[in-house]
Amino acid sequence: MPLGTYKEALSARSTEQKILDVSQDGGIVSSLLCYALDEGIIEGAVVAGTPDEDWRPIPTVVTSSDEVIAAAGTKYSMSPTLSALKEATRQYGLEKVGVVATPCQVQGLRKAKAYPFTRFVADKVNLIIGIYCMENFPMASLDTFATAKLGFDSLTDASKMDIGKGKFWLTKDGEDKGLAIKETHGYEQAGCNVCQDYVAEWADVSTGSVGSPDGWSTVLTRTDAGESVFKAAVDAGLIETKPMDDVKPGLPLLEKLAKGKKDKNTAERERRAKMGVRIPAIY
Ligand SMILES: Cc1cc2nc3c(=O)[nH]c(=O)nc-3n(C[C@H](O)[C@H](O)[C@H](O)COP(=O)(O)OP(=O)(O)OC[C@H]3O[C@@H](n4cnc5c(N)ncnc54)[C@H](O)[C@@H]3O)c2cc1C
Ligand code: SF4
Repeated sequence: MPLGTYKEALSARSTEQKILDVSQDGGIVSSLLCYALDEGIIEGAVVAGTPDEDWRPIPTVVTSSDEVIAAAGTKYSMSPTLSALKEATRQYGLEKVGVVATPCQVQGLRKAKAYPFTRFVADKVNLIIGIYCMENFPMASLDTFATAKLGFDSLTDASKMDIGKGKFWLTKDGEDKGLAIKETHGYEQAGCNVCQDYVAEWADVSTGSVGSPDGWSTVLTRTDAGESVFKAAVDAGLIETKPMDDVKPGLPLLEKLAKGKKDKNTAERERRAKMGVRIPAIY
């Protein structure tokens, strides 16, 4: 089961141009958050913003659609998302919180929800939107890709960052410059090499680009909460969907990449275990 347990797999896209203009893929994350905020399903959410516009993601509590949309787009560096949960529940006083999280952060959040000492914080998270994740990079690695490898004066010159079609892409003045993914190996954070989860298996709803055409997202609804908010946003006309079987490359590619990550990182876990290095448990 390389994709974990899910109810339904769909290809989907926001119907709102103002979201599509800034979103990474089909704008599913931002659409779901905006809908959940408008309907009172959540009172606010923790997302990854870039207050200094320098691509460094900063965990940010948002309570309006405008703030959700301002934080759209992928930043390929670690955002310590869970560190903002206390701020969301204490300073902001939120009782119903949404969280956008990478698979490892979703696991941390599920563990926090399972243990009583995080009561009054993790208990208040009632919507977990997971994003697919093959690996993540320290800011210094992104700076190296931009300057030493792609010839930019600075990473801040880039207006978009993406990974797809075997390359790490940076866009400057409307022109895309790509670096072969094999050239990024060794620059990822070392913890990612023992990670077994590609598609946020423990989220309420998971989404990413792989499997769907450009500008669309592949969505896996997993829990009752995730299925209900996704279906309601579709019924409200905020998201359009296509059956996964009707799109190319479809689920086979997603399954292949998820399995590939598990197999590669299992080998690395075994290598590290042989050296006596402690490795995190698998969930
Ligand atoms: C490090 C990383 C690696 C990824 N690898 C893959 C991959 O291999 N395959 C794939 O299909 N998809 C991958 N994704 C997911 C993909 O890039 C999009 O985030 C996803 O498809 C959602 O797009 P959207 O248009 O629905 O979201 P949008 O509407 O654009 O919203 C994106 C949301 O993600 C949040 N966010 C941005 N950066 C981060 C971050 N670093 N940590 C936590 N939250 C963040 C934003 O705050 C925003 O709320 C990766 C994402 C990250 C952060
Ligand atoms: S690869 Fe795994 S450990 Fe690394 S950021 Fe992604 S989910 Fe987290």
